[in-house]
Amino acid sequence: MLVVMKHNASDEQISGVVRAIKGMGYDARPIPGGQRTAVGLIGNDGGVDAARLEGLEGVLEVIAVTHAYKQVSREWKEEDTVITLPNGTVVGGSDVVIMAGPCAVEGERPIIEVAHQLREMGATVLRGGAFKPRSSPYSFQGLGEEGLRYLARAREETGMMIVTEALDSEGVDLVAEYADIIQIGARNMQNYPLLRRAGRAGKPVLLKRGMAATIEEFLLAAEYVLAEGNHDVILCERGVRSFDRHTRNLLDLAAIPVVHSLSHLPIIADPSHGTGLRSKVIPMARAAVAAGADGLMIEVHQDPPQAMSDGAQSLYPHQFQQMMDQIHVIARAIGRDVVSPLEAVAAD
Ligand code: PEP
Ligand code: MN
Repeated sequence: MLVVMKHNASDEQISGVVRAIKGMGYDARPIPGGQRTAVGLIGNDGGVDAARLEGLEGVLEVIAVTHAYKQVSREWKEEDTVITLPNGTVVGGSDVVIMAGPCAVEGERPIIEVAHQLREMGATVLRGGAFKPRSSPYSFQGLGEEGLRYLARAREETGMMIVTEALDSEGVDLVAEYADIIQIGARNMQNYPLLRRAGRAGKPVLLKRGMAATIEEFLLAAEYVLAEGNHDVILCERGVRSFDRHTRNLLDLAAIPVVHSLSHLPIIADPSHGTGLRSKVIPMARAAVAAGADGLMIEVHQDPPQAMSDGAQSLYPHQFQQMMDQIHVIARAIGRDVVSPLEAVAAD
């Protein structure tokens, strides 16, 4: 960490900063420059309160030269994190993983039917919310445990893995009983007790970026899960709030290469929530794969106009097929492939 002094800072003010740093238990090294002096803080273990230094007399700014996150960083672990799910699907490897399904589980038949269709088209992970974080308390809130049971049935019949959201700390154990991947939604990205709880649940965690979260905050949220001993975290870029209302959110595709350079964790993209518009999902799915996304999360519904949530952004199954055809070409163009489709299971 560098404490940059104002150009007219007095020797006494510089000494004040050195004393404060030493008082915090770190070493301080003044670095005189042509225009101004900076004071280097040595031995930052992530626990330095920058605001305390910023408030000292004569200080212009405090610049972080190391990151607050540790275990998620490339410095901590150079090789990519690769997560192998029980059905053999590898997340974070050379291939692009496809997670797809309706926004919400709406019933047993619909989820099983769409799962069969999606598996045949090459998705290996089935998504579907049983507990829905709806902006309005009056909207459909999901089928709860019943929805989890239907997802488990769909897994039995298709061999697909299940990713579904845990809404609160108390709900994590129940979701972990059924799910192969626990989803933490955008609205909960900074729900630290939930992140800690998910970090102890013994299942991979899919962490969605908060709608107003910086990439640093996103990585720090993941750090909470890793800090509990769970290293199997999949990040998901799902768009951030912007001033433009032509799309529901602004899918931040640059976050994909940025995260890849800062972190060893896999990052997938969700162009469904990222755009909110069916007609924009396929172009942004293509772009996300081209940008290096390790996977896609796509909302698909057999009859989107009748969907109980997010119908406007859900693809029809035939559109999902089109997307898959195109994604294959793009993945190959950048030296990757799409995760191989699952064999039909015996009961199929
Ligand atoms: C979802 O995946 O259905 C969802 C609610 O996503 P997000 O948390 O990104 O809004
Ligand atoms: Mn949704």
